[in-house]
Amino acid sequence: MRQAQLFETPEPEPVPEGERVQVLLPVPSLGVLDYAVPEHLVGQVKEGAIIEVPLAGRMAVGVVWDQVPGNGKPLPYSKLKPVNRVLDLPPVRLDLRRFVDWVSAYTLSAPGPVLRMGLSASSALQAVPVRRHFVRTVQPTDGIRMTPAREAVLKVLADGTPRVASEVAALAGVSDAVVRTLEKTGLVEGRDISVDLPYPQPDVGRVGPELSDEQKLAAKAIADKVWEGGFAPFLLDGITGSGKTEVYFEGLVEALKAPGAQVLVLVPEIALTSQWLERFEARFGVAPVVWHSEVGQAERRRAWRAVASGDARVVVGARSALFLPFQNLAFITVDEEHDPSFKQEDGVLYHARDMAIVRAKLADCPIVLASATPSLETLVNADEGKYQKLVLRERHGSAVLPEMKAIDMRHEPPDAGTWLSPLLVREMEATLAAGEQSMLFLNRRGYAPLTLCRTCGFRIECPSCSAWLVEHRFRHELQCHHCGHVEPIPTACPECKNEETLVACGPGVERLFEEVKHRFPTARTSVMTSDTMMSPSATAHMVQQIASGHLDIVIGTQIVTKGYHFPNLTLVGVVDADLGLRGGDLRAGERTYQQLVQVSGRAGRAEKPGRVFLQSYEPEHPVVHALLSGDGEAFMAAEKAARDRHHMPPFGRLVALILSGPEMADVLETGRMLASKAPVERGVSVVGPAPAPMARVRGQHRFRLLVHTTKIIKVQPLVRAWLSRIKAKRGVRIKVDIDPYSFM
Ligand code: ADP
Ligand code: ZN
Repeated sequence: MRQAQLFETPEPEPVPEGERVQVLLPVPSLGVLDYAVPEHLVGQVKEGAIIEVPLAGRMAVGVVWDQVPGNGKPLPYSKLKPVNRVLDLPPVRLDLRRFVDWVSAYTLSAPGPVLRMGLSASSALQAVPVRRHFVRTVQPTDGIRMTPAREAVLKVLADGTPRVASEVAALAGVSDAVVRTLEKTGLVEGRDISVDLPYPQPDVGRVGPELSDEQKLAAKAIADKVWEGGFAPFLLDGITGSGKTEVYFEGLVEALKAPGAQVLVLVPEIALTSQWLERFEARFGVAPVVWHSEVGQAERRRAWRAVASGDARVVVGARSALFLPFQNLAFITVDEEHDPSFKQEDGVLYHARDMAIVRAKLADCPIVLASATPSLETLVNADEGKYQKLVLRERHGSAVLPEMKAIDMRHEPPDAGTWLSPLLVREMEATLAAGEQSMLFLNRRGYAPLTLCRTCGFRIECPSCSAWLVEHRFRHELQCHHCGHVEPIPTACPECKNEETLVACGPGVERLFEEVKHRFPTARTSVMTSDTMMSPSATAHMVQQIASGHLDIVIGTQIVTKGYHFPNLTLVGVVDADLGLRGGDLRAGERTYQQLVQVSGRAGRAEKPGRVFLQSYEPEHPVVHALLSGDGEAFMAAEKAARDRHHMPPFGRLVALILSGPEMADVLETGRMLASKAPVERGVSVVGPAPAPMARVRGQHRFRLLVHTTKIIKVQPLVRAWLSRIKAKRGVRIKVDIDPYSFM
């Protein structure tokens, strides 16, 4: 035995294992990866640190994540790639990391793409560019050869302000070279200064308007919670023009009194921001930090970094602002919380209002959901006592809610080829004569929703979607509103080749414009749609034109419903009140109601009372009835009862699976496979696969399955397990939409 032992190789000394970290990369389907921490970075690679690591032959930026359990057997240390460097940025805080995990788990999306929304300012992650500025040093000129040019430069710099060479040169009337040679003498010193200027700080010391009693009550409830800190959700339910903004501004003021505290205001679309920004500026002396998809790279970097450093105190943004790296988030407001655009319909499918609640919970701060027409989801949460409800019943000052009337189009039909009933035309005439403004609302872009051949009946369709092409007469083209395909308007029918046989069917806002121009040739008329308001500045300009009375008649799509305040607007005409109800999904009634209340809410917001006319072929419909009677509460109560009866959201749950791919047979087959493996469980039912209403988009065939469950069932594990039981056919994508809002 002894002998044998002599030959036994000794246990190898274990190679000392270095530090390892888990890193989340903003890349789809990678999950959290392990990396080695090289000697020189030990102690620096902390949780939340933003770091650079090698990935597939290049460098990628990721975030040091926490211990993620169940990630399989870890790779041996020797196999790990080393972290390259730690970026000079504040670490991503725990509350944002947990938020990314939460959104990922809830939406069944990989965490990478969720994190990407938080790191969506790629330029922010790189070093901020600097520009060389010059200042005068204290060194005396003794012994240095002075020229008039040099004297001139020193004179310019005498005030101590750092200036770039070209500016100094221009002011001194010399060439740039003079400044640079002076640097060599030591009389002038170069300093690299970041090109990103700090944001000016809002002045919360300014006094706001005197609040009414009900406003005061609501503002105090919010401000008290902000002062206390901790998660506290509110529903601020106030009619249009009741001063909801003034009320949540008080919460914002309270939050900003605490040093370093940050505030986030989510708004549905950039459309809202121009007036909102002016108002903020009027109240706090400076503009807030703005965050949305139109913000350019340089400004994005500046904003992202200012949020991360805590410098940005107030951020107003679209839904993606939720993922900004706040240091000290102390208060959130979601304005117009009912707005459908809070649901993101591509990439990670999430509802920003719902996720804002989660963000507030994780940041442990109060949140206000504000609306004149709260969503049923939010109303139910308030009824159940989860949200504290604050109500504003009166318009500010002497303003009252507009008077509403239906125009029964069966009895007051418009002339052939026109869309405005004689009654509405008379009201517009009267409004013009009184020097006041009218707004016509029609939620249809373009000239006509359909182009048809009178000879053969051919309808012009998009080559890659199941959708009609919409005529845009201003631009002389036909456009698909689903994929953006455009083509010139043909002169002959593509099918039967007959000339001058194509006709436009139905109205869009451009066609309405034509009618208004014809009826009121001298009125100053404009169309407000996403086609005419391509940029925030174009929107701001148009809004300014209306607010200042430079327009008499405004024709708009849903874009005009968004919270604007036009004091001289006294007439609103809803051209087709039934439009949103056709082909209705689960929320068609609720959405139409909200939209029409919002558009009506544009009328009579100042001293002059407003009137609203709803053109309808079905004025007895509950939605129209609710609008006329002003009894929205009864309408929403009826909606609620109906949803409850059918276990529809928020009393039950829906999950949509959207399958798409280039080959219809493969998509359908995958759908059938899914259906055959569908979960069999009490309280769960699955329908489909059925061709989606938009059966083809961008050449991709689409099928849908819909899962309906009772409220207590946890749908995420159910769907996750279900998906793991099948393998999709090649080229078929399966998109999971938890709590779907679109059923197209
Ligand atoms: P909402 O957001 O509820 O539609 P707003 O906050 O936009 O209402 O208020 C409507 C208008 O009334 C705005 O011009 C606002 O400045 C004004 N307003 C509201 N409350 C007050 C107040 N207490 N004092 C002065 N002006 C007010
Ligand atoms: Zn198309």
